[in-house]
Amino acid sequence: MSHAYVVVAEVRAGALRQVTLEALHAVSLLKEEGDSAAAVLIGSQITPLASELAEYLDGEVHVLDHPALENYNAEAYFEALTQVLGTLNPHTVVFGHTAIGRDLAPMVAAHLNAGQISDITAIQNTGTTASFTRPIYAGKAFEQKQFTDGPRVITIRPNNIPTAAKAANPATIVETEYSPAVDLKSVIKDVVRKTSGKVDLTEAKFVVSGGRGVKSAEGFKPLEELADVLGGAVGASRGACDAGYCDYAMQIGQTGKVVTPEIYIACGISGAIQHLAGMSQSRVIIAINKDPEAPIFKVADYGIVGDLFEVVPLLTKEFREI
Ligand code: FAD
Repeated sequence: MSHAYVVVAEVRAGALRQVTLEALHAVSLLKEEGDSAAAVLIGSQITPLASELAEYLDGEVHVLDHPALENYNAEAYFEALTQVLGTLNPHTVVFGHTAIGRDLAPMVAAHLNAGQISDITAIQNTGTTASFTRPIYAGKAFEQKQFTDGPRVITIRPNNIPTAAKAANPATIVETEYSPAVDLKSVIKDVVRKTSGKVDLTEAKFVVSGGRGVKSAEGFKPLEELADVLGGAVGASRGACDAGYCDYAMQIGQTGKVVTPEIYIACGISGAIQHLAGMSQSRVIIAINKDPEAPIFKVADYGIVGDLFEVVPLLTKEFREI
């Protein structure tokens, strides 16, 4: 029996999010001969992105382009998405484990009477069974889960699964009419964007993070310069956010964002368990701390005992010369 796989694409600041291409790769890991794949692209004035998305998918790209979908609104997005899912009759729906994905996926799972596995970091498919790896206990352990029967909804953690390669045959673009229900209970009047920089923190390959040791908002400047040279993003501990040095949009940890960059540079961060929950899966962790006993050194691959205000500019200088 053939199955339909559907990726719910995400757009951020006018561009496709990298996690969408990772979700397409997840589909290629799961799909068997004869299965179909589709992506659903929702937003306003996003039709030009459909052809870009189509390059990575041998199947269909369904586009829902309407002014009412300009900003994420759970009700409107759910209504639009389920309209398309009704025609696709999916076996598996794949979301990014992002703010939008985490909101929409359970609604869709309930609608489809599907099981859901969230925050997947790896997929193993033997051909007969697919297992999904996800972190538990704030990243201290991993569990492997399988579905038994029925439709499936999964969300994948950004930056863990490779991005899809270009498809041999680009997908067909299907434009779908959307007419918002007149009785939408919430209407977005204004959106204030709080970003942590030029590069999306959850998708950045390099993250330079500051803690209370940075001591002030001004103290983040050297970290921003290092992140700029690396083409990365700046993050923070809750200690730094609580102290008012930076915005909570930058917070990494149990109650903040989860990041898994190639390199995570922790500057003036002690390494509390709640912070580790958000960054311990980074490929390489570099810690800079004045205190040789700081717990962050227990998870760090490389540790520098020293003053971050001396070490960070030196790193920036060295990386600039590479
Ligand atoms: P501190 O613990 O004060 O550490 C500062 C470090 O900077 C010290 O190790 C010090 O040696 C070093 N330092 C000082 N000056 C310098 C210098 N010049 N050069 C180099 N090093 C220097 N925290 C998070 O980060 N994310 C979360 O999501 C989160 N969620 C939480 C949820 C709950 C329910 C609770 C209870 C707590 C949570 N916390 C979270 C808070 C967490 O417990 C810690 O309090 C917080 O992470 C500490 O931040 P910090 O490491 O920046 O500060």
